[in-house]
Amino acid sequence: MVKKVDVLIIGLGPAGGAAAVAAAREGLSVLVIDRRKEVGLPVQCAEFIPLPMGKYAQSEGVIFQRITGMKSLLPSGAVEETEFPGLMIDRAAFDQALANEAARNGAVLQLESRLVRLDAAESRAWIKTALAEEEIEYRVLIAADGPHSTVAESLGLPELDIVHTRQYTVPLKQAYEDTDIWLSDAFPGGYGWLFPKGKFANLGLGADKHFTADLKTPLDALHSQLVAEGRVGEEISYRTGGAIPVGGLREQLVVGNIMLTGDAAGLTHPITGAGISAGVVSGERAGQAAAAWLNGQDKKAFADFEEDIRDQFETTLKRAVERRQWLNQHWKSEEAQKDAMHRKGWIAFPEYFSV
Ligand SMILES: Cc1cc2nc3c(=O)[nH]c(=O)nc-3n(C[C@H](O)[C@H](O)[C@H](O)COP(=O)(O)OP(=O)(O)OC[C@H]3O[C@@H](n4cnc5c(N)ncnc54)[C@H](O)[C@@H]3O)c2cc1C
Repeated sequence: MVKKVDVLIIGLGPAGGAAAVAAAREGLSVLVIDRRKEVGLPVQCAEFIPLPMGKYAQSEGVIFQRITGMKSLLPSGAVEETEFPGLMIDRAAFDQALANEAARNGAVLQLESRLVRLDAAESRAWIKTALAEEEIEYRVLIAADGPHSTVAESLGLPELDIVHTRQYTVPLKQAYEDTDIWLSDAFPGGYGWLFPKGKFANLGLGADKHFTADLKTPLDALHSQLVAEGRVGEEISYRTGGAIPVGGLREQLVVGNIMLTGDAAGLTHPITGAGISAGVVSGERAGQAAAAWLNGQDKKAFADFEEDIRDQFETTLKRAVERRQWLNQHWKSEEAQKDAMHRKGWIAFPEYFSV
């Protein structure tokens, strides 16, 4: 039998969770599916959110500690200290809190369920579970299925440019409230990071696979360096990584009655890789647009969603894409050994914002 829902949401990360809360609050029938066994797990994140996102992190056990500043380390050894107010969260708990809120508002959450096929013209989706394949008829579909979006692929939209990451969780020897960022030709197309999380720290890096496929050697070297400096311990309690879309906003965020959100929409910042905030904001906005379209008969609701998201994010993302393209011409050259290139390519420096 074909299941019918008002809103089908693919993916239960920050974008899908926020979309489900917003749509369910408006009284729509909402089904969210995710291929994972447990919401938010395994964690693939450095777990930093900017301060304004704190309102979505109020459930018990979500916030770990605050962050006040950023230290950006340049190849010469120079360090730039800037304000960087934010919070370190338990990312799984953050995603779970959003999912629980969606369920409290009446959304149905279905895990271990994967979107395998979409007929956008007929508003039908096929979901594979452990037991069977289900057919679902939706009125609105929200794609919140991350960097390798099956929805986008089914719609024939182009694949997003990706940066690969690798991260270790290690013991932190002293309490710390800054995040450290290493800018270096050793991490071409990305950077190294340390985000303190209570007695631990997430130590990781990203790099563009066009320049290097090996993330382990530079991450092990960074880890050894910090062990030698007495800042972190040797033991690695958790290893993770994942893909970060870095190509900027998709050309289309709406296709018929389908809206794309979060990483699936290319909303992740192409220089910093941050995407939780944009995921939540775009998801919430998509949920509201679904309600305006279905309840309020607002014919412009989808166009308004796209316009709002572009207004909020496009300028920032465009600059980041331009910087990325410029940096890509210089990695693995003399320029990449100098501070000047990194100053122009990283958000902490005024040069990043100059024309
Ligand atoms: C190592 C790493 C560190 C990061 N650190 C930070 C950070 O500190 N701060 C920050 O802001 N951002 C960070 N990011 C980026 C951030 O994690 C993403 O931008 C954010 O998760 C995007 O949310 P989303 O809901 O769009 O997608 P996701 O969180 O990726 O959620 C997508 C969901 O869709 C599901 N899914 C995918 N395909 C299907 C399918 N076919 N059927 C059913 N379900 C499907 C997946 O299982 C997943 O649960 C980091 C990313 C990585 C990889």
